[in-house]
Amino acid sequence: MPYKSRWQIEVPKVTLPTFLFKSPTASLPDTPVFLAADAPDTHYLTYRSYRLWCQRFAAGLRAAGLKDGDRVLLFSGNTLFSPVVIHGTIMAGAIFTGANPTFVARELAYQLKDSDALFLIAAESSLDTAREAAHLVGMSEDRIFAFDDGFATFDGKSKNSGNIRHWTALIADEETGSKFAWDDLKTEEDLDRTVALNYSSGTTGVPKGVMITHKNYVSNCMQTIYVSKLSPDYEQNTKRARQLCFLPMYHAMGQTIFGVTCPVQSIPVYIMPKFDFIKMLENIQRFKITVLTLVPPIVVALAKHPAVKKYDLSSVDKVGCGAAPLGREMAAELEKLWPPGKINVKQGWGMTEITCSAMGWHPLEKSYSFSVGELNPNCEAKLVDEDGIHEVPEGERGEVWVKAPNVMKGYWGKPEATKETITEDGWLKTGDIAYVEKGKFFIVDRKKELIKVKGNQVAPAELEALLLDHPAISDVAVIGVNIDIDDERPRAYVVLAQGKKATEKEIQEWLATKVTRHKHLTGGVRFVDAIPKNPSGKILRKILREQAKAEISSQ
Ligand code: AMP
Repeated sequence: MPYKSRWQIEVPKVTLPTFLFKSPTASLPDTPVFLAADAPDTHYLTYRSYRLWCQRFAAGLRAAGLKDGDRVLLFSGNTLFSPVVIHGTIMAGAIFTGANPTFVARELAYQLKDSDALFLIAAESSLDTAREAAHLVGMSEDRIFAFDDGFATFDGKSKNSGNIRHWTALIADEETGSKFAWDDLKTEEDLDRTVALNYSSGTTGVPKGVMITHKNYVSNCMQTIYVSKLSPDYEQNTKRARQLCFLPMYHAMGQTIFGVTCPVQSIPVYIMPKFDFIKMLENIQRFKITVLTLVPPIVVALAKHPAVKKYDLSSVDKVGCGAAPLGREMAAELEKLWPPGKINVKQGWGMTEITCSAMGWHPLEKSYSFSVGELNPNCEAKLVDEDGIHEVPEGERGEVWVKAPNVMKGYWGKPEATKETITEDGWLKTGDIAYVEKGKFFIVDRKKELIKVKGNQVAPAELEALLLDHPAISDVAVIGVNIDIDDERPRAYVVLAQGKKATEKEIQEWLATKVTRHKHLTGGVRFVDAIPKNPSGKILRKILREQAKAEISSQ
């Protein structure tokens, strides 16, 4: 029998803009919800002005020719206006997609082409990459707009972006914006319209656009807010809550938590342009941050870095972690930064295909293990045996399958991949292996190919396809290896072509010119005679993972 959440909740049947802003004219608090961490006194958006900027952007997009269902791609680190681009696009009836700002042109071109974006909004500092990517897919430069940190937007002065227009060209004047009314869709079918394409490789293959709908988003946010409200201190905690955003908004976690869940609770979010460890510590102290939303490598750095002791972190009363596995020892190490009993680091579990999260902790329960907690409201899960049919008994390991209103609609333009991932009766095959004990889930392994480096996805299939283009490589398999505590690194097993030579360093450097940093082969290159495969040619990664474990332990 599938496991069911102990909570069934009502989810309002509304669009994401209505969930976020009630209506185009409803009264909203005029208190800050987004503040630029570098200049919070002058550069902030209140809840009310957040809606107005989204309306102005939505109206501007429509005036520029954007139609229902068109895609807008944002290629930038987080700025005060990232949430405006996301939710203004959605408000305009279109689909948002965000790309990692460190992508090289080839990677950006892939997403541009796959999503077939109408507009590319790119950070001023990344315009060269944006131009090159646009050129690769035959997109004309007049569909590229230069994005900034928000300062030029406020000051009305755009920096010199050459022949590329500044993104403010897409912002309607205040009066037009304030009159912009988004479509207030009502039917189930309407609410099942895609609003975002968040890229993920899923259980196999190259990155794919995960179609997230109005209903997915609203359900997931309602679930997490419902669980927070189970705390008797909810009102008091929310009133004093302040969050710090250094997780990227092109990823499901940053996008959902900071762009929607925080503002609907009027929780101010201080936005950092990118992750910087020392700046993060300074900002926690300076802004008296109360909630930390972390990924495992940041937990490790906080627990181990000597600089941490120099900062006052006493304002923090809640620490959550997700995106990759976190061991209990490391969580306990982190808890020692505060007086005994003050902080209990809680791990959640989710994936892009689930909007953001599906498992977490009741606020009144303590976590003493590496468990990711229990199912979110309205979520069901079952653990399925290797046969892909039968459920395993409680306590045994199986693949997590999830059925929930926050499960994606499918992969953009890839019906076959969707069919392989979501069963006909609506179960999402997550590719994660877990066991359950007393209703709590423990993620113990990954059946899918995916590698996670500092919380970022690395798709082995993408690196393998590139490496096969290397003149000295005849076959290759890439896996993740655990050289560090609580993080993975990509390692390539390479078969050299007959009579060809290459060194580890040469292959690493060759690939490094073609992909962004977290995809570099920092786990090394190993030369082998053959890649283990099954009779149908599928790489037997399990064998390579065992081999890597043996190699690492004998080092
Ligand atoms: P993403 O789609 O980038 O969010 O990656 C989702 C994947 O990250 C999951 O399918 C897991 O493999 C992994 N993941 C996320 N949270 C956890 C966690 N708490 N423990 C173990 N793995 C996790």
